[in-house]
This record gives sequence, structure tokens and C-alpha cells, in this order.
Amino acid sequence: MDTDFIVIGGGIAGASAGCELAAHGRVVVLEREDAPGYHTTGRSAALYTENYGNRVIRVLTIASKPFFDAHGFLAARGVVFVGTAEQDAAIDRALADGKSFPQTFEEISKAEALRLLPILRDDYFARAIHEPDATDMDVHGIHQAFLRTLRERGGQLVTATGDAVANRTATGWEVETRQGRFRAPVVVNAAGAWADAVAKAAGVRTIGLVPKRRTAITFDAPAETPVHGWPMGLDIEETFYFKPEAGRVLASPADETPSEPCDAQADEYDVAVCVDRIERATTLQVRRITHRWAGLRSFVADKTPVVGEAPDAPGFFWCAGQGGYGIMTSPAMGRVVAALASGAALPADLAAMGLTAGDLAPQRLQTA
Ligand SMILES: Cc1cc2nc3c(=O)[nH]c(=O)nc-3n(C[C@H](O)[C@H](O)[C@H](O)COP(=O)(O)OP(=O)(O)OC[C@H]3O[C@@H](n4cnc5c(N)ncnc54)[C@H](O)[C@@H]3O)c2cc1C
Repeated sequence: MDTDFIVIGGGIAGASAGCELAAHGRVVVLEREDAPGYHTTGRSAALYTENYGNRVIRVLTIASKPFFDAHGFLAARGVVFVGTAEQDAAIDRALADGKSFPQTFEEISKAEALRLLPILRDDYFARAIHEPDATDMDVHGIHQAFLRTLRERGGQLVTATGDAVANRTATGWEVETRQGRFRAPVVVNAAGAWADAVAKAAGVRTIGLVPKRRTAITFDAPAETPVHGWPMGLDIEETFYFKPEAGRVLASPADETPSEPCDAQADEYDVAVCVDRIERATTLQVRRITHRWAGLRSFVADKTPVVGEAPDAPGFFWCAGQGGYGIMTSPAMGRVVAALASGAALPADLAAMGLTAGDLAPQRLQTA
């Protein structure tokens, strides 16, 4: 089948890129699994915060908010950051950084922190910061909205492709899959943790992507505890977090264990660390874990996403390295991919916030 753009990977990155590219030409999104949200996209903590990551990530996050707001994908949550007496300097650093955040980010008294999150242990933390504007995201709704728009614009999602393999041809790229062969002048590599593997198979220089496993669990809160209205509780140095999730508590030890790209599974040790950290910081007791899982957050060396044409492979575009912010940056990332892959300038709103193509370009990464 001949088309204009082939996207490898149907997670949030491939879906948003495909949806935006479909405004410029014919698009086919190829997903190895039966379900496009099976890997990292379906395993996130679903938090939107403008107070996370470096300048580039913050620009991509802020530029994504109008899309989320227009579709009603955000719901009030807030975050309370806590620090122990030993973490005094970390609280000060966060507050100094926070001066540049558009969202409110301010130190609150211990009494106020305990009012917001009554399950915090009074003798565990010394100081707290409140970020009231962080929100929950409807990840499934966002992903489906991208895929729906892709279809409405004439694009196609092909699932159960097995490992799609891209090969260079005289005129562009041919991608082999279990569902047939696809040809296009442009291929977009949005394969999540497998992005370097996809490049390698295509004979394209890799970007040093490191998938890092992160574990999460859900457990029952005490019957009389009104879980729903709590903000997220987050250690100031991100060594654990917890938040309400459909009447239960979702918690993570915020682990970052380097991994091969794979169907990540929760490790018993990380689950035990999670339980220990939650029980030390709060009065919660984890009696019954209802669900445990892990997902791969994939980073390059500077922890900034990679978007742009491979310097050694005309027509091969990267859309990778979304790390721990791939959902909340997805609308803006999709627009950047579509602009660059169709030969246009960066979207005006992103350029006005100081984003340049060089901030995201694969050229900045020196790998073999
Ligand atoms: C525990 C946890 C908490 C997180 N919390 C947040 C959060 O609060 N907020 C936030 O914004 N982000 C969060 N993230 C990060 C976010 O989930 C990721 O950045 C995002 O899902 C990455 O999307 P993706 O499409 O790149 O990857 P994926 O969803 O993994 O999609 C890649 C797809 O490519 C497919 N694929 C791979 N190779 C091939 C091939 N050769 N052929 C065909 N298909 C292929 C795979 O099957 C996969 O479906 C969290 C992640 C984890 C694990």
C-alpha cells in the first residue's frame, strides 16, 4: 500500500503524530499489538503538571493545555510535595525553581498540608509545597480522541502488525509487517521504548534511548477514608507518590530501573519498597494490593524528547524520548512532528514560547 506518512507505534505519541499528520496527507499508523494503548500509554499515573522537567518539556506541556481544556480531559487534583527535615535544601531548590512556573507553587504550613492530606504522618515531614493547579488527565479519552481524528481525516490505524521493519528504497521507505507492506516517502518512528530498535533495524543511527521501568500499585484505602478529594502526595525528591484512583489509592516508588524494551512487569522488590515508603510517610496500611504493574519511561541523555529528521536518513523522523511526560506533552508533540515532517516551521505558539527545532533535533545526541 502506498501512502504519504507511515507512523510506527500506536501509543499516545504515534496517535498524536498520526492525527496531526493526517491534516497534511494520507497516514497509516502501525501498531504491533492488538490494542494501541497496551504499553507505556496505558500504564501512566495520568497527572498533568507544568512543574515537571526542563524548559522544553514545560513549553510542550503548556502548549498542550488548550487541547486538553477544549475536550474536557483535565480534572482537578493538585499536588502536595512533602520533605523531611533532611530534605530542607530540596524544598528550597524547588521553591526557587518554582518562581518561573506559570502555575501556583507555594510553601504551605504543616497544618495546611495535613488539612489537604490528613493521612500524612505529622512526624514524617517538616515542610510542604502546594501546587493546586496540577490535574488528572483522562489518558484513554485523549488517546482515543487522537485516533478518532486520525480516522476522520482519512488516516488508518493498523494493529497486530508484529514488529514493523522499515527499509530504505530509492524513493523513500518500505515498511514490512504481518499485515502487509506499506510504502511512503516519510516514516515516523514513534515506537516508545523500541524506538532505537526500530532505527537499528532500519540502518539508522540510534539516539541512546534508555527505557526505565517504573512500578505502580493500587490498594484499598480504609473504608471510612474519603479518598476521592485528596491531592497527589509527592516526595520532594520524587522517591514515592500516591493519589486517589477510582476509589482506591495508586502509589509508586518512582523507580527508574534501566531495562531492555519489553512488556514490563512489576518487580516484587519495587512493590515492597513502594509499600514501605507509603507506610512510613502516611498512616495508610497496605493490606491488599488490588493491582500491580510497571511501564517503561524512555529517556535520552538530556531527558528531552527527540523530534526531527534523522541526519543520516532522509525521510526518517524521530518522535521518541517522551520519558515521564509523554501524555501531557502529546498534543504539542503531535503538532511539532506534523510541522517538521511536512516541511513547515514550528507551530507559532511554540516558537513564541522560545522553542526551536534544535531543542528537539536528533543532531544534539552524539551516539554510535
Ligand atoms: C508508571 C508511569 C507513570 C507515568 N505517569 C505519567 C504522567 O503522570 N503524566 C505523563 O504525561 N506521562 C506519564 N508517564 C509517561 C507516559 O506514559 C509515556 O511518556 C508515554 O505513554 C509514551 O508514549 P509512547 O507512545 O511513546 O509509548 P508506548 O505507549 O509504549 O507506545 C509505543 C508503541 O509502539 C509499538 N511498537 C514498538 N515497536 C514497534 C514496531 N517495530 N512495530 C509496530 N509497533 C511497534 C508498541 O507496541 C507500543 O504500543 C508515566 C509512565 C509510567 C510508566
